[in-house]
Amino acid sequence: MQGQITTANLGYPRIGEDREWKKALEAYWSGKLGQEDFKVEMERIQLAHLEVQKAKNLDSIPVNDFTYYDHMLDMAVMLGVIPARFKQAGEEWSLNIYYAMARGNASATACEMTKWFNTNYHYIVPEIGEEAPRLIENKPLSAYRFAKAKAGIEGRPVIVGLYTFLKLSKGFPAQQLGEKVKQFLPLYVQLLKELETEGVAWVQIDEPALVTDTGVEEFALVESIYAQINKEVPKLHIMLQTYFEAAEHYERLVKLPVSGIGLDFVHDNGGNAASLAAHGWPADKWLGAGVIDGRNIWRSDLDAKLVLIQALLKTVPQERIILQPSCSLLHVPVSLQREVKLNETIKGSLAYANEKLDELVLLRALLNGQNESGISAGLDSSRQALSQFRSLPERNRKDIADAMAAIDAVREKRNLPFSDRVKLQRGKWKLPLLPTTTIGSFPQTPEVRQARLKWRRNEWDQAQYEAFVNREIESCIRIQEEIGLDVLVHGEFERTDMVEFFGEKLDGFLFTQNGWVQSYGSRCVKPPVIYGDVAFAAPMTVKESAYAQSLTSLPVKGMLTGPITILNWSFVRDDLSREAVANQIALALKSEVLALEDAGIEMIQVDEPALREGLPLKQRDQEAYLQWAVKAFRLSAASVQDTTQIHTHMCYCEFHDMIDSILALDADVISIETSRSHGELIASFELQGYDHGIGLGVYDIHSPRVPSVDEMSEMIDRALRVLDPELFWINPDCGLKTRGWAETAPSLKNMIQAAQIAREKL
Ligand code: GLN
Ligand code: ZN
Repeated sequence: MQGQITTANLGYPRIGEDREWKKALEAYWSGKLGQEDFKVEMERIQLAHLEVQKAKNLDSIPVNDFTYYDHMLDMAVMLGVIPARFKQAGEEWSLNIYYAMARGNASATACEMTKWFNTNYHYIVPEIGEEAPRLIENKPLSAYRFAKAKAGIEGRPVIVGLYTFLKLSKGFPAQQLGEKVKQFLPLYVQLLKELETEGVAWVQIDEPALVTDTGVEEFALVESIYAQINKEVPKLHIMLQTYFEAAEHYERLVKLPVSGIGLDFVHDNGGNAASLAAHGWPADKWLGAGVIDGRNIWRSDLDAKLVLIQALLKTVPQERIILQPSCSLLHVPVSLQREVKLNETIKGSLAYANEKLDELVLLRALLNGQNESGISAGLDSSRQALSQFRSLPERNRKDIADAMAAIDAVREKRNLPFSDRVKLQRGKWKLPLLPTTTIGSFPQTPEVRQARLKWRRNEWDQAQYEAFVNREIESCIRIQEEIGLDVLVHGEFERTDMVEFFGEKLDGFLFTQNGWVQSYGSRCVKPPVIYGDVAFAAPMTVKESAYAQSLTSLPVKGMLTGPITILNWSFVRDDLSREAVANQIALALKSEVLALEDAGIEMIQVDEPALREGLPLKQRDQEAYLQWAVKAFRLSAASVQDTTQIHTHMCYCEFHDMIDSILALDADVISIETSRSHGELIASFELQGYDHGIGLGVYDIHSPRVPSVDEMSEMIDRALRVLDPELFWINPDCGLKTRGWAETAPSLKNMIQAAQIAREKL
């Protein structure tokens, strides 16, 4: 008899079907839930997640994927990587310390948080100090015991591998990687030995860092890690799991002394499948075949998946293949069950975590030749749902196809180069040197949020709501005039979220009821879904901007979210390239830009805070991404008059390797968040000779503290030592929507004073 194909999950979402997990965390932090009750609730949620997976009949269920905050933080505390500032007398480890590391407390600032590879999930960065690490607890072991005792599940513990753990940590220079490996490896060995002794059969060791551009030298280090583990813990089966891209050093990777290797066949640009075909597969290993997209919400095309798996079967025997999601399901919402408002065709096109597991099980049955009637019916209904969705008119718009075919004719370059535009713009705007402005939003007070809620609940009609927004705009204009800003904004009171606002007004977007995913800690986001062709339907921001402009003789900047930010913060249809979708959004935004210009708004800011977020993991793919991303921005903004001033804004990111691309946006003015790395940032802009208008944020908007005039003067002076005063703007770091008026007005007044002092010195 032919062997059977099996299935595994790599990680289940933590947040719960109704975000119970988030709610429990927040109730505990606020003191509404005592520690004992909190733990009971967390165990209840953990068990519920195990039960759901058990009911699906998967062959392998992950344990230790559940966490009280973040899996990297779990690894850090487990290995004793607890910075001294969190240590309390006599306490080795406690929930208090754990959450202090994640969120900070009165005496210690939180550990840094950063993006988990190229996802929108953020992990806590371990701070490795001088102190010798030691194993404080064996959480995977407790998780394994929990699943076994409570649910009768023989779980597969999952941990972050040593290589990835160290690559994502900070506190030591890169050359010390080898030493750190030596220091931490015995702890990993101990942890794994305890699992082996317990009778655990398989462990999943996540090493996503193996898909990044790791040098040959570092791969030798990886080999030493797994050789040692194999030597010391020979009986334990290890599934070495990679994801998010094609694995590097394939030929050496598959020779590592582990029982299985997990590869992502969805986000690998075909690289893993090509390596497999070219170099084969070792007879002694299992292949964890990541075939179902763990990062998107679409139903799989099962026929296409079958083709992919059949290709794998040419190299790998059936009983050696484990079907699995491409990565942990952490990155997708939990269950479609609560989506009761979507129309049937659209709902039929979606698959959240639970439905993705169903797909795995269905594929398993199809491949194992089980021919119970339910199975072919499952395939049929999946095909039907997909074909209905594919033929939706919103996905096949002739006007958009025509526009895309003619995209080369759309202006991608401003009419004049910046050096000529800037002269015309100076003549037109007559701004003082070092003009002052803000990034767009002003405080979203409880009244503003209340008003929006009333309107959404139909307690207020459109006219009432608009009248309210207009009053807010008017008062915001008056306040800005009084403060003495040179370029005003309308304040963005009509927006909750900078992407959602545009998604609701453009064609091609939909909003789910329950499509929440974890962004970091208890924070969840519900990304808009781009399911159809994106198109401009009607002006989106003109009314508010034009109204604001009608109230003042000072210029008011229009305020838009750029195409790449809209793309990167949405779930995107996967039948078109991301580039194509970005271009659709760009053309829609271009219509808005021109509508603003027609309405007399001739300074327009197109925000791109998420430009870097779509950057591919592999360096060799980055250039191409930046090129099409920059092009999309330019398509949206380049068609304006020479005198129209295009602004853009970016939040903090690593700019140093992106300055060329930022310059290529050809925005007349860019404002950048700098409070977190001021000196460094100025240096990189100087180095690369940035020669367009630029405002490096002179104060940090993330705190309610009112910065002094002196502090801001110092920031300005530092910037002016390297940047041309003719090009320099003065503004806060980012939008002010999370701030209160109490600190906003005095902070901006101080900023204006600092600007005046700087002007006098010129
Ligand atoms: N214009 C937006 C605001 O001021 C920009 C937000 C952002 O950079 N994330 O809120
Ligand atoms: Zn910002």
